[in-house]
Amino acid sequence: MSELDGRRAWITGASSGIGAATAARLAALGAEVVLSGRRAERLAAVAAQIEVAGGRARVLPLDVAERAAVERAGAELDALGGVDVLVNNAGVMHLSPLVKVRVDEWERVVDVNLKGVLYCLAAVLPGMAARGGGHVVNVSSVAAQVTFPSSGVYCATKFGVRALSDTLRKEGIRLGVRVTDIQPGAVATELPDTIHYGPVRAAVSAAGALYGPDTAILAAEDVADAIAWAVTRPAHVNVGEIVIRPRVQE
Ligand code: NDP
Repeated sequence: MSELDGRRAWITGASSGIGAATAARLAALGAEVVLSGRRAERLAAVAAQIEVAGGRARVLPLDVAERAAVERAGAELDALGGVDVLVNNAGVMHLSPLVKVRVDEWERVVDVNLKGVLYCLAAVLPGMAARGGGHVVNVSSVAAQVTFPSSGVYCATKFGVRALSDTLRKEGIRLGVRVTDIQPGAVATELPDTIHYGPVRAAVSAAGALYGPDTAILAAEDVADAIAWAVTRPAHVNVGEIVIRPRVQE
């Protein structure tokens, strides 16, 4: 008997990085995992790896910023019996100085990182409340605690997600819903590929090159471990926030 046997976990942004690693980890603990993201082929590859390892995975491709698509996904998941664990992980990081007024990118960051989280919450929260329990994991960032130049809108969304997490944690007491906000530092994933503004992309790439085998940043699996730990605590325990940084990060 594994700790998450009989549970269904919906993971957004499961086609790569932290989401893919979390899906594999929760599936290894017995959960049936539902994988969402836009790249259907990548989701299928993650699902295939999970199944080869003996886990159960479904693929539910969608853009979390498309409200109607997320609503349809919620209805589909309800028809299957609902979601026990939601991992709101999908995110983009279009960084640039505010003075460059890249308004289209600002809107996209808000749409994916903040509104996407809300849409997914809307899709599962009533069902969790009706069934008397569930666990919502929101992946924010250390950028939910401190700001960085060129990260204004990204930080605004992550501060926002953290605020939502703490509000829902309080409201969740009556609903039986537990809430965990995960705040990673630097993790080696594809996320820097979402920086389109050249000077910041080059600066982030140069900073990444400073890390080596002795000064490694986190692997996606390190964050997946933290998420798995949070969702497998005894029912009376709510792990509200986890901050997880590379040892070498201030
Ligand atoms: P990745 O780029 O590897 O993963 C991001 C995931 O989000 C992908 O699976 C991507 O899938 C998905 N995604 C992006 N936009 C959408 C969308 N509109 N709809 C659905 N899915 C979407 O990076 P990470 O694993 O690092 O990022 C995961 C989370 O961790 C993000 O929220 C990020 O902000 C956060 N984080 C990351 C840190 C890091 O250093 N890497 C540090 C702190 C927080 P697809 O392209 O297929 O849609």
